[in-house]
Amino acid sequence: MPHSTGGGGSHGGSHHSSHGGSGSSIHYYNSYIPGRHVWVSYVNGQPHYRYTNSRYKETSVTFYVIFFLIFFCTGLSILSSAFPPKKVTVGQTPLTMEDDAKIFSKEEERSLSKAVSSYYDKSGIPVTIKTVKYKKWLKDNGDYGQSKENYAYDTYVGMYPDDETRWLITIWDGEAGDSRAYSFEGIAGDRTDQMLPEETTSKFNSIVSYQLRERYGRKDACSQAFITGFNSIGAAGFNWINFGVAAFWLLMTCGCLIPSIVKAVRNKRKPVSQREHEVDTHGQAPQLVICPYCGGTYVFGETACPHCNAAGLTVYTPPVGTRESFNSNNI
Ligand SMILES: [Zn+2]
Repeated sequence: MPHSTGGGGSHGGSHHSSHGGSGSSIHYYNSYIPGRHVWVSYVNGQPHYRYTNSRYKETSVTFYVIFFLIFFCTGLSILSSAFPPKKVTVGQTPLTMEDDAKIFSKEEERSLSKAVSSYYDKSGIPVTIKTVKYKKWLKDNGDYGQSKENYAYDTYVGMYPDDETRWLITIWDGEAGDSRAYSFEGIAGDRTDQMLPEETTSKFNSIVSYQLRERYGRKDACSQAFITGFNSIGAAGFNWINFGVAAFWLLMTCGCLIPSIVKAVRNKRKPVSQREHEVDTHGQAPQLVICPYCGGTYVFGETACPHCNAAGLTVYTPPVGTRESFNSNNI
């Protein structure tokens, strides 16, 4: 299907091709054939015509503004996610130790507490370490088909029913009859999500697991593994990826929508005579008439004179001596 590629002329302005402006897929034509809609704008009192096959309603300013606000707010929320999250809590006890399995010596507990405290200073997440003898746990729980993860979850809910700020690490010692083997499960409250994203917990888990394997058989294996784990993770930092996405998003939003809004507002402020509008020419090619009030020329079918705003002519009166007068029988 052919489409206008735009053009210009001696009147000083150029007109757009169908690909410009509002992004609508409307096609404009430079010539009239019956059935096409007639669009007129007046420049220096002279009518300029464009033709379309279908009706086209101009997108309203409100539409653009709502569209813009939705996109802009989305951009802002992505941007805010780029900044480091606030500490989850302040002034809590960094480490709560429930060493029921008696895994840690006093000395080890102090070292562990130091590592957790320094993690707490950065994150504000209070840590609870609970140790369980595997054999006893198996007798009490595992034999009934409860997984370690479910047990850890139930323990969290039991200890902190209304607290979503904590990170509970349950450690089993002596798994599968091996008194030197340890396993662990972590459960964290929902409010730690931003500070303790999955990347961080999976890093922590793999470091601790690696250390437990490396130090297998040594007396301080468990405390050293967790100390290394806590020392390796910090607070969530500035997220450059989210920042980049937000910057791109906001630039695109402003770059695409602000010009459209400006254009729509400008168009709205133009006097009717200059604004492009559709004229009902009763299925005829546009023909000019002369306003009996101001003498200005306009297209027959205008509801009001674009120059003086007087009511438009309802009966076609060809201007004397113009080519249009030969067409008068058509009306
Ligand atoms: Zn007039």
